[in-house]
Amino acid sequence: MATKKHKPVRKSFLIFGSPRIEKAEIREVVATLRSGWLSTGPKVVKFEEMFKKYIGAEYAMALNSCTAGLHLAMLVSGLGHGDEIITTPLTFAATANVITHIGARPVFVDIDKHTMNIDPNLIEEKITKRTKAIVPVHFAGRPCDMDAIMSIAKKHRLLVISDAAHAIEAEYKGQKVGSFGDMSVFSFYVTKNVCTGEGGMVTTNNKDWAEKVQMYGLHGMSKGAWHRYSDEGFKHYQVVFPGYKYNMMDIQASLGIHQLKRVGNYLKIREKIWKKYDRAFQELPLIVPAPVEKDTVHARHLYTPLLDIDATDISRDAFQQGLHIENIGTGIHFVALHLHPYYANTFGLKRGDFPNAEFVSDRTISLPLSAKLTEADTDDVICAVKKVIERIFE
Ligand SMILES: *Cc1c(COP(=O)(O)O)cnc(C)c1O
Repeated sequence: MATKKHKPVRKSFLIFGSPRIEKAEIREVVATLRSGWLSTGPKVVKFEEMFKKYIGAEYAMALNSCTAGLHLAMLVSGLGHGDEIITTPLTFAATANVITHIGARPVFVDIDKHTMNIDPNLIEEKITKRTKAIVPVHFAGRPCDMDAIMSIAKKHRLLVISDAAHAIEAEYKGQKVGSFGDMSVFSFYVTKNVCTGEGGMVTTNNKDWAEKVQMYGLHGMSKGAWHRYSDEGFKHYQVVFPGYKYNMMDIQASLGIHQLKRVGNYLKIREKIWKKYDRAFQELPLIVPAPVEKDTVHARHLYTPLLDIDATDISRDAFQQGLHIENIGTGIHFVALHLHPYYANTFGLKRGDFPNAEFVSDRTISLPLSAKLTEADTDDVICAVKKVIERIFE
């Protein structure tokens, strides 16, 4: 608890991951509301067109979340009951949850401590007869080692479905990470680099999968509602699969089409903040994120320094709480999945199984990195980090 005399670094609470929404988005949402067409329609189609061009994929299908996209990507590519799917334990629950939704088994492979991405050198020892796919997660926006992953996938004939929730802008050797492999899935959740409130997108070059993602995302109906009720005239639909209700609304796409236009500018802003943090934390017991690999673009979604807990009795959680008292909101990305009760109990996993993921999981803290932050905001973050750490380490 803050004492009576305690004066926080800033008066108002700095919300972690608060998005930058500009006038164009607000105008577009209002115009959409006035148009009478609120759900899936022309704005979703426009957003999909823009997105597939940006990524360099043949097809892009907008959905109401990245989680929905991961689910459909696995379903339409034929993954299912009894299959094993390799992924990282250092990810959001959705990545592994959807694997269990289709009746498959998530098989975790430890990360590289330095990149915080899945370690390709540890993948092959986990491959069995049942292994069908690899789901790389480009953690914090840093591209995975795609040459190594693609060559393992080719050798063992595995699908590659990227969880690119953090990685819209990320590039590997001149190519957007979302253009590698069989399918990639993106998130437009509030905190993500492009924000539609809730939303997601699947990209692929496979026409059959693209059509199925679209159909399965809207009840498995052969024609979209847009076509059914548009001025082209009423058309009957046919249910060809007992699908899901995963479609994106035009209200959401109204945000996305303007956010996507600014994706490069926002990345530059976050790069500046990132470098400012790196400089400010040099002398502190914080391990700042590793330098960006040659020939890659880091999407700078999360700034995740590690607290050097071996130099103190204070935990990362106490550090986070200290920042909270200073009115700085932070995040934890992530508590490694094998430490959560469901994954530990269901798959017989325990602490010690993935030492590198645990190392990060115990020490990581995500500091504010939104393109909305002002110079004064990031000064406050730095000031609060120093204040809390000096108190902790003195
Ligand atoms: C945010 C996130 C998701 C889920 O995104 P939603 O759009 O909220 O469903 C999946 N994977 C990772 C790594 C994420 O960070």
